[in-house]
Amino acid sequence: MPNHTPSNPDPIPLTVIPGDGIGPEVTQAALKLMAAAGGRFAVTEAVAGAVSFAAGDTTGVPEETLRAVERTGLVLKGPLETPVGHGGKSANVTLRKLFETFGNIRPVKEVPGIVTPFSGRGVDMIVVRENVEDLYAGIEHMQTPGVAQCLKLISRKGCEKIARLAFELARSEGRKSVHCATKANIMKLTEGMMKRVFEDVASDYRDIAAHHIIIDNCAQQLVMRPEQFEVIVTTNMNGDILSDLAAGLVGGLGLAPSANIGPDVAIFEAVHGSAPDIAGKGVANPTALALAGAMLMRHVGQGAAAERLERALFAVLGEGASVTPDVARDTSRAAGTDAFAEAVIAAMEAPEVVSIKAGSARPVRLPDMPRAPKLVTAKTAEMVGVDVFVDADTTPGALGGALAAATRDTAFRLKMISNRGTQVYPVAGPAPDCVDHWRCRFVLHSGAAGDDAAILALLSAVAAVAPWMHVEKLMRFDGERAYTLAQGEAA
Ligand code: NAP
Repeated sequence: MPNHTPSNPDPIPLTVIPGDGIGPEVTQAALKLMAAAGGRFAVTEAVAGAVSFAAGDTTGVPEETLRAVERTGLVLKGPLETPVGHGGKSANVTLRKLFETFGNIRPVKEVPGIVTPFSGRGVDMIVVRENVEDLYAGIEHMQTPGVAQCLKLISRKGCEKIARLAFELARSEGRKSVHCATKANIMKLTEGMMKRVFEDVASDYRDIAAHHIIIDNCAQQLVMRPEQFEVIVTTNMNGDILSDLAAGLVGGLGLAPSANIGPDVAIFEAVHGSAPDIAGKGVANPTALALAGAMLMRHVGQGAAAERLERALFAVLGEGASVTPDVARDTSRAAGTDAFAEAVIAAMEAPEVVSIKAGSARPVRLPDMPRAPKLVTAKTAEMVGVDVFVDADTTPGALGGALAAATRDTAFRLKMISNRGTQVYPVAGPAPDCVDHWRCRFVLHSGAAGDDAAILALLSAVAAVAPWMHVEKLMRFDGERAYTLAQGEAA
């Protein structure tokens, strides 16, 4: 990774991906503003997104772009179009994941001149979202023709990295508290891991108040009393939703910048997309990408330039005369993208009219985590049973009876069957509306060997009753149950 220290006087190598739709317009304006503010960069332009998909590259990110990102370690990226519901994966997600940008940072603060129901409340927070794990790992399977599954993967390492990043960010910005928002009350192993790791990590940051909050309450609190939050750290999907909600408090996605931070690469972008409806019309608002540019400059130690840019931007937005139509009070007299950028550049020369809370001039210290895959080891690991998922168009009683009989001579006994997480065999309560996807929980007979041969024999016996499509071992690590119970299932 290049030397991004403030003392390095050379222009900093930067990959710029203008992107799709309004991307080239806002990128050009943002770069102009960064340069006028005193940012010093050696730019390599690269392509990704629609152009690459159209050229037949199903990843949306060509090899030359990957090399440029790898070489510079620093990216300013315009929005990239994503095929919806079909075709290639999102080029945005590919870039974030390939370069392990595990932390998504979304500052949310009031923008002068942008009036919202929350104006004047002092909203000023940062949402720190885990960026590569969780449901967004995108590991999905059709389990039956009518039942889809997405794996929610949460790792101790991922949680620790994002929790540490949140505390480091709080420290570097002089913020006093971090909230960790999870759904640990329901998903005790996955979301629960985020909560537990956050609480562990908090003990290394005793200067910062650490609070856990259930994600749904957090959403409510964000609307009721948003000013109470300084930093919110959360898992990927929660963070995706919460950060948009938070952006809505201060004027919406069109004004929101974000950073994707990893150990080797940092990608800065606007939160909004390619807005194809206004592409090429010269009216797109470059504020979000320019604010992302300010974040980028702070990240590489060009804090003074970042502040200059933000101050001028907020002065022009606050004054409201030369702004783009999306934020203009009188759209008939709104400025185009270029005129807005020129007004911001002019404001850089004007006496200070807007005082901004200076952001961090010092780059955030990234968590120094081991790269080895195994972070946690158990002294004992014991297999106590197997969940076998089967596809069957039947009733719980018929399936349970047939499986119990068919597996009688195996090392396992059928403990229960659940349908969409609720025990339906033996009957535990009113019958839910079942689907053709059954989780059949088999536990080892006492003293039986739970080896692979025993599991394979079980699967053969199950297959005589119904096709299975997914098998999950039930483990105890260091004596602790490493799986959850179904609704209605006795321990
Ligand atoms: P969008 O591009 O953010 O646009 C939604 C609407 O917001 C636009 O139609 C426009 O509204 C307004 N808008 C957004 N940015 C603006 C700006 N800078 N200046 C003025 N108005 C702006 O969302 P979308 O239509 O859902 O997504 C379009 C494409 O972008 C999709 O392919 C999506 O996958 C992609 N996308 C990419 C990223 C990314 O690269 N990080 C993020 C989100 C979406 P008006 O109709 O009022 O003009």
